[in-house]
Amino acid sequence: MPLDDLALGLQRLVDRLVRRVRRGCAPTPSHQRLLIVQIDGLSRDVLELALAQGRMPFLRRVIERAGWRVHPMFVGLPSSTPAFQLAAMYGVRPDIPGFHYHEKRQREDVYFPRAGDAARVERAQAAGRRGILDGGATYGCVFTGGALDSLFTFAIMKRPTGSGLLSALSALVVLAWVALKSAVITLIELLRAVLRLLADPVGEWRRGWKWLAIKIGLSVWVRELFTLAVARDIYGGVPAIYVNYLDYDVLSHAYGPRHPRALRSLRRIDDSIKQIWRVCRRVPEHRYDLYVLSDHGQAHTKLFDELAGGRRFERVIFEDFFRPQGGARPVTPQRPAGRHRLASGIKAFRTGRAPGFFQRFFNYIEDGFPWILGELKEARERDNVRVICAGPNAFIYFVDDDAPLPIERIEERWPGLAGELSQHPGVGYVFARGSEGPVCFWRGKRYRLGAEAGPFAGRDDTALVVSSIGDLMKMPSAGDLVVYGIDASPGHVSYIAEAGAHAAPSPEELHTFVVAPPTARLPDPLTHPIQLYPFFVRYVQHGDRESAA
Ligand SMILES: [Zn+2]
Repeated sequence: MPLDDLALGLQRLVDRLVRRVRRGCAPTPSHQRLLIVQIDGLSRDVLELALAQGRMPFLRRVIERAGWRVHPMFVGLPSSTPAFQLAAMYGVRPDIPGFHYHEKRQREDVYFPRAGDAARVERAQAAGRRGILDGGATYGCVFTGGALDSLFTFAIMKRPTGSGLLSALSALVVLAWVALKSAVITLIELLRAVLRLLADPVGEWRRGWKWLAIKIGLSVWVRELFTLAVARDIYGGVPAIYVNYLDYDVLSHAYGPRHPRALRSLRRIDDSIKQIWRVCRRVPEHRYDLYVLSDHGQAHTKLFDELAGGRRFERVIFEDFFRPQGGARPVTPQRPAGRHRLASGIKAFRTGRAPGFFQRFFNYIEDGFPWILGELKEARERDNVRVICAGPNAFIYFVDDDAPLPIERIEERWPGLAGELSQHPGVGYVFARGSEGPVCFWRGKRYRLGAEAGPFAGRDDTALVVSSIGDLMKMPSAGDLVVYGIDASPGHVSYIAEAGAHAAPSPEELHTFVVAPPTARLPDPLTHPIQLYPFFVRYVQHGDRESAA
């Protein structure tokens, strides 16, 4: 868009002024720099659909005319952003079984959107390794990968010197432009929403506002801000940049991976990629290599609650599986209460021993306002059993034991539990740890994965899926039972309210891509994001050699 160019041109002018004040000179031709654009949640199948339908004209053009290649990539389990980014950014096998999980040894939940959790996981698991974004910048990512600037941290603003103020001004030019442009688009969207509301008052009132909030919040403001911030970094020659566009993933969660609203967001992302590419061309001396990749796909899911008479998964687990009519109790020594223990009176209501009105009231509180009872919405614990729903995956932890509990021990306590669970209409697979590798329960039958492929036999990617289940169950933080709603008898199921889901082993979640320039020598085949690390970390290593020379 020419007006964007005007804003960036103004910003470059200010940058040049900054350089003169600092008496620095313009950067000379140098080493290659890394630039990663992630389209969160886009499977290879949907990418190919979007390319074929002309929804991503820029990407299609570079593929057809400039010889860019679509490298297939298998992302492993869980098919989820934090696991992908930790492996790609640091080259380590992550202990991140989902977007929300429990660390038994620390007796702590990890929930990525919660402040501080991602930083804690990155500190612990990156283990002092060099990130692929060392000294660079990240936008919209879960982890920093060693970046100096994450999100909108304009570090220069901390030094209020003369040139520092000018630098801040340069950043402000960008911000002011984003604000102005986004405000205009927001106004247009609001106007459209009002018109839609007039046309269809009931439907629009019922769910329109949510869609509008997502669209305005993510699609417009955040994407615009990211794109211009990246453009600014490219002009500045930042050594490595990783920007994650979240629009498609968010819309796909809300409406499903092939819904027109989700697909339409790809057009806007394609525009942003084009804009970034053009800025790269304007500063060829910085030699940016651009990669467009995706961290996982999504599967279309039904909500578990609808298959369970309106009850959430945790409630079904506690009411139907852990408190069978006869009142069987686990044969473990009761340990004193852990965290989040409440007054026993409240506990009585919550465990269902107080019938009638109060029970219904507490169920209501629990479903809608769980933080009042001191818990995250998708986590529940009773009698040393902790259940966490993270998407199409749910984890069951026996928290009286710090170590993962193998299936033999679980069977001693709860004979037949895993098999029965796998027969529930809202459940596809149940995985556990066996003495000789992972065990899978499906439709009530038990399979020893590795020795046999069980329900995964007959897939094109059988060997990869089976080995990725092995990787998942080696993670200490994966549940003692890992439950997946994928391939349940009525179709794919998620345990949280969403139409599109990921973290599970369906082909549409596991198979993604890297679009790379024709000269890029990517590892082939790409069967785990960990392979990207040595390829990407070379960029910051080259930077070292140059500054040493
Ligand atoms: Zn997602």
